Amino acid sequence: MDLEFTAEEEDFRQEVRTWIEENLPKDYDPDEYFSTPDVDKKVEIALAWQKRLYEGGWTGLNWPKEYGGRGATVIEQHIFNEELGRARAPMAAINFIGVAMVGPTLIHWGTEEQKKRYLPKILSSEEIWCQGFSEPGAGSDLAALSTQAVEEGDHYVINGQKTWTSMAHYSHFMYLLARTNKDVKKHKGLSAFAVDMKSPGITVRPLVQLTGDSDFNEVFFEDVRVPKEQMIGPRDQGWDVAITTLMYERAGMGAGMEFEHALNQLVSLAKKTTRGGISASRDPWVRQQIAQFIIEWNAVKLTDLRALSKQISGEPPGWEGSICKLGSSYMNLRMTAFAMELLGPYGQLTRDCPLSVDQGAWLKQALMARAFTIGGGTSEIQRSILATRALGLPRK
Ligand SMILES: Cc1cc2nc3c(=O)[nH]c(=O)nc-3n(C[C@H](O)[C@H](O)[C@H](O)COP(=O)(O)OP(=O)(O)OC[C@H]3O[C@@H](n4cnc5c(N)ncnc54)[C@H](O)[C@@H]3O)c2cc1C
Repeated sequence: MDLEFTAEEEDFRQEVRTWIEENLPKDYDPDEYFSTPDVDKKVEIALAWQKRLYEGGWTGLNWPKEYGGRGATVIEQHIFNEELGRARAPMAAINFIGVAMVGPTLIHWGTEEQKKRYLPKILSSEEIWCQGFSEPGAGSDLAALSTQAVEEGDHYVINGQKTWTSMAHYSHFMYLLARTNKDVKKHKGLSAFAVDMKSPGITVRPLVQLTGDSDFNEVFFEDVRVPKEQMIGPRDQGWDVAITTLMYERAGMGAGMEFEHALNQLVSLAKKTTRGGISASRDPWVRQQIAQFIIEWNAVKLTDLRALSKQISGEPPGWEGSICKLGSSYMNLRMTAFAMELLGPYGQLTRDCPLSVDQGAWLKQALMARAFTIGGGTSEIQRSILATRALGLPRK
């Protein structure tokens, strides 16, 4: 494995960095953006940034050129993500599902009409997509889902409920997985659909998180009619379509640069906090804890590069992604808990309190940290993948 970037790749990094510096709005304040409870405002900023990226030709970087992408290599995509993270640019999350997951899935499985209809508006973020997979009775065991799609003339009629649907309240389309056949094994009777969120019979109910924000929703379907031509991939092969999508989701998640920023913030916090009459940054126990987080973070980053190196040699994303997901989410959980310990009672203060530290960001991050151990595959599922695929242990 070669950990050095080539001269061309370093040039590419410089090009991206310069473009971001020149194009991030001058009045953009990342601390304000990441701590504001005003989700509408956050979405507005993220959409404006997506538009700017699109106009600069930076969305769908790894999509084939014929579909409006740049046909970038996995390394270029990696460098691009790193630079966005380094600049703390507004999150691509507003249309992450569209650009990173639905687009590549449509390129693989969609009809020519579907590609023409949906891909350009995903790239331009004129249409935002959400992912309707999880249900109250189906999460880790996704194939157990029970939302039904029944064929009726030239439509399918959908009934059921989805949950934890990120950004459904801002979305124009849902990429839905529903059951089209109850008489076969559970994985064999699913189909995927593009569902217009304005269809009669859809109710979106935002869920309020521990942080007070509402990023995800419950979505109810009552006799929702979806034209047959909006099925993605062949009927009853929705499981294979979904696996394609999940591979892109895992590949797109990688090791996030936000942890790098959080580690720097933790060092600053230790410097400005007093423990036993001295700066916490001079307390050996504090120093050891921070050093431990830095070591773990570097281990995650190197594992991410190992995964990248495998992909470059043509291998599909492997179990290294599970190490990165497990390692970074677990480290984040302990790091934010440690920050709360350093802050003591100040840790409880939210952003609008006059005495809050770092705009109450640590409290929010500590509460959000649990979500990262669940979304995109829970820690237990990642451990099972590592046990069976990486270590070769028997399933039972
Ligand atoms: C921030 C966030 C965003 C999300 N966004 C979306 C979205 O946009 N669209 C969408 O469809 N879903 C979304 N989800 C849902 C997510 O995919 C599910 O929460 C996840 O798959 C887990 O499913 P579950 O919540 O039903 O938990 P369950 O699967 O019921 O798990 C409950 C507990 O049992 C454990 N468990 C389950 N099965 C096993 C097993 N086989 N072995 C060992 N332990 C097991 C789990 O690890 C967990 O601790 C999101 C979740 C989060 C946190």
